Order: sequence, then structure tokens, then C-alpha cells
Amino acid sequence: MFFFKNESATDFLEKMFKPQKRLIQNLLFWGEESVGKMTTARAFSNALLCGNNDKWELCHQCPNCQMLDQGYHPDLMIIEPLSDENHKEEKSIKIEQVREGIKFLTFHPQIADLKILIINQAELLTRDAQDALLKTLEESRKNNLIILVTKAPKKLTTTIRSRLLSLRFKRASSKSLMDFLQKEHGLSLKESQIIAERAEGKIGLAIKLMDKDYTKSLEEKRKDLIKVLTQDFNQRSVYFQKLTKDNKELNATLEEWLRMLRSKRESEKLNLTPVKKTKLTNDILKAIYLLNDSNINTQLLMENIFLQLK
Ligand SMILES: [Zn+2]
Repeated sequence: MFFFKNESATDFLEKMFKPQKRLIQNLLFWGEESVGKMTTARAFSNALLCGNNDKWELCHQCPNCQMLDQGYHPDLMIIEPLSDENHKEEKSIKIEQVREGIKFLTFHPQIADLKILIINQAELLTRDAQDALLKTLEESRKNNLIILVTKAPKKLTTTIRSRLLSLRFKRASSKSLMDFLQKEHGLSLKESQIIAERAEGKIGLAIKLMDKDYTKSLEEKRKDLIKVLTQDFNQRSVYFQKLTKDNKELNATLEEWLRMLRSKRESEKLNLTPVKKTKLTNDILKAIYLLNDSNINTQLLMENIFLQLK
């Protein structure tokens, strides 16, 4: 198995594979979206479960690898946020889920030498869930490893953070993205260059950009921005009503608009004065920040941005 190595964090993790020096320490993987945090958490866990190599590889022979190849391992548990049945509340990781994870850790490993619990999007842990987790982190056993993955570490209490070894994931260089796309996905130099440039150091985005449908959907988003800028208030209102129904979609749209605004060639299509272009860029940046950090009326927020631009 190969995965993209985010050098800023993986160099450190590799030290954990040296069995004689193995130091299991609960970890916090943090960094912005699409920089490879969760991919690394999975790949790192798999390699530790196999344990037959002192480097980042699977032997593909042992019982651990056989289970991993089938997509299930009894000593690995991943907790993801859930939305409630009526989809009325925002997604969160509830105390019941954390309790299940804690229970999982109390049993002896079944096949591997250790048990691993990964909590993805840990910023969505409720306060109760964080409190429940804290005790386990404080009394962590030798053969347990807990990895919290998050884009917003400040949403975790300082006591939780103080119990974890924190590793920051940064954007990758264009060169390492291009190498990865060419070697692992067989892209040509030119193709890899185009994708690496658009992905701006984000491996997750680079992988998505290899999908033609995805690239097409981004083109649509750019066309939407051109349209929105020429529409009147009511037309925009209809568009934003639809767009703001899904926060994830809204976020992806805003990020694509930012990329368009930052590209000299692409932003010319928007026919904006330099002052307006800067204002729109700043407003979108602010909107992305607000999206992640509070319960605001997103439709109103979007309408206001474009109202003020006139
Ligand atoms: Zn193995």
C-alpha cells in the first residue's frame, strides 16, 4: 500500500515503527482540510497493526494484514460524527459513541499487539464526550493508541490537547504532489502540473481533481459566480437559498470561488474592479471562517456579501 506522505508529520511518525524504541503516545493530527490527516491516520494504524516492518509498509502475509486487506480489523475502531435521525441537529460525536470506543479499548487486542481508536473530525466531539474521553487519555494503557483527527484543534479543551502529542499537517509542495500523481497514478508531467497547481498543496483535493466529473462540478461553480455577479437581488436569493442548504457544498463553492479570484487569468472573467475583487476575496475568506465557527444564517450572510458589492 502506498499513500502520500505529508513530510511535515510523517517523518516523526516513522520513528514509532522501530520496535525496540516503540513509544506509543496518543496523538492529535491537525491541519486544514484535505491535507491528508485521515489517510495518514489509517495508513499509520495499519502499519502498526501489522507490525512486521520497521517502516511504513504492510507485509501482506500476517493475519493482521489479511484482516486489513478485507477491510476490517478487530483491533481498530474508527469513530465518525453522526447526524441525528431527523437531521435537525448539526452532526456531532456523542458521548455514547465515545463510551463505545472506551469499551473497545478495555479489552485485550485480539490479533495485533495493540488496539487503536481513531476519532475523525474530533472538533465535533460534544463537551460531554470530551470529558468522557479525558479519563481514558489520562489512564491510557501501554497497548492502546488513540488518534484524534481535526481541522479545528481549538474546539478541543486544553486538557484534552495537553494529553496528546500534537502533529501539524501542512500543505505539500507542488513538486511532491506532482511526483505522487505521476508515480502512483500514472499521470503525465503536464497533467500532474495542472492538477498540482489547482490543488494548492492539498493532497485530498489533488486526488479529487483526477476525477473528470469533479473537475466539471468545479467549472460549474465558477460559472455560478459569474452569473451571481450579474443577477438582481431576487435571483441571487433563490440561488443562495439552494446553495446554503448544505454547508459542505457551500464551503466547497466558496473555496472554488476563492481559487478563481486568486487566479489572474480566471478572475478577469468576473469583470470586477481591483477594489471590488479584493473586497469580495476578503468577504469570502471571512464567510469560510464563519461557516466553521458558528451557527449563523448562511443565506443572509451570502446575500449581504453580494449586496455590499454593488
Ligand atoms: Zn502484516
